[in-house]
Amino acid sequence: MNKKEISIFWFRRDLRLDDNVGLFNALNSKFPVISVFIFDEEILEKLPKNDARVGFIYDSLSDINCKLQEIGSSLLIKKGKTKDVWQELLQEFDIKKVFFNKDYEPYAIQRDLTICELLAQNKTDHFSFKDQVIFEEKEITKADGLPYTVYTPYKNKWLEKYKTIAPIPEYTSTDKFSNFKKINFTFPTLGQIGFVESVIKVIPHNLKNIANYHETRDFPAIDSTSYLSPHLRFGTVSIRKLVNWAVHKNDVFLSELIWREFFMQILFSFPKVVTHNFKSAYDGIQWRNNEEDFQRWCSGTTGYPMVDAGMRQLNETGYMHNRVRMVVASFLCKHLLIQWQWGEAYFAEKLLDFELSANVGNWQWAAGTGCDAAPYFRVFNPEIQLKKFDEKGIYIRKWISEFDLGYGKPMVEHAFARDRAIATYKTGILK
Ligand code: FAD
Repeated sequence: MNKKEISIFWFRRDLRLDDNVGLFNALNSKFPVISVFIFDEEILEKLPKNDARVGFIYDSLSDINCKLQEIGSSLLIKKGKTKDVWQELLQEFDIKKVFFNKDYEPYAIQRDLTICELLAQNKTDHFSFKDQVIFEEKEITKADGLPYTVYTPYKNKWLEKYKTIAPIPEYTSTDKFSNFKKINFTFPTLGQIGFVESVIKVIPHNLKNIANYHETRDFPAIDSTSYLSPHLRFGTVSIRKLVNWAVHKNDVFLSELIWREFFMQILFSFPKVVTHNFKSAYDGIQWRNNEEDFQRWCSGTTGYPMVDAGMRQLNETGYMHNRVRMVVASFLCKHLLIQWQWGEAYFAEKLLDFELSANVGNWQWAAGTGCDAAPYFRVFNPEIQLKKFDEKGIYIRKWISEFDLGYGKPMVEHAFARDRAIATYKTGILK
């Protein structure tokens, strides 16, 4: 074979050149590195053509490609079924080593097993790394080695362990950039990938107000949260850099980043949570699952301003403030008695920061079916939530333009819905 020997770095949910563990290791291997991103047809075919997340991925890849061009290299973009693409790559290049960062979602685990098998058959070495978390699946466990299913002891152990390694070393690769192979691949247009630009865009992250996060984070009218979620989802921000910084800024903010890892390890250890209740005792609940009610919830026309504003924010921007996510999720499961899977699927379709572990974890928390979940008899009152967290109605007016023209009647009365929910749960929970 007279092809030149190379290493490949496979970008997935780690779309940055800086502090990227897998890339760092690839650049320290002895072969010139070609970096690749694969638009996976099996994921893409389920998405609308103007999906804003695909646009964000595309823009992030485009930035990476521009930086690589400055040093005479470029990013190879492929589209297809992942296994077919890897078969093509193995034909095209003499690949000695493949580097990538681990992904803990069930689909990704399966995909990576298939690709690693293929690489092994081809006698190509492959190396995977922890990159998207501080502590991965089996690093924070109870004394008996089993996973934590309650957040607070998990968090305490996490913090204890973090202190022993802080600050976490970062993986700066700039001095090794000359190890990228000098090569000029054509970068496709978004249209060539089969998508069009969305009007919805990911908001840049904002860490200005984190010092006061514990006081302001619950008020949706104040832009005080970080907007980091899509950046963490697609890895345009490094979790190590973020945590090394956040640990000196605000404990409550840091604890939210720990929630993220808590739910990731729950998904890894209990993959059934994607579709099933974590607590199977809740399997007997008789959901109403009324389609019309669901449509009113989706379109933000329930007559409860806090719920409607949240759903309209989601529909228009692909984002919803966390406090409001809790209110709309509780409303769907408790007031309307619609099973959490419906709401989870709607969020998965709309959220720019959709993250399977966090979405399923938080939905099950709201429904009361999850590990360490809200108790079933806790039914948020959307009116009280509004008074507490948006007293002046600034948030709701932003998203409900007709609010001051006399807003519609609630689709279901709170006291009635609360009693109905508690009775339904009580009867449904298996003893
Ligand atoms: P900040 O308040 O600035 O938090 C910083 C980071 O901490 C977030 O970016 C996120 O990575 C993490 N974080 C914060 N809260 C949580 C939490 N409760 N669980 C897990 N991680 C958290 N978050 C997602 O990233 N993807 C989802 O699909 C998702 N679905 C949700 C569904 C429901 C029903 C609820 C109640 C919450 C959901 N969350 C989800 C958690 C949370 O609402 C978002 O992470 C947060 O609103 C994102 O905004 P931010 O980056 O400004 O958050």
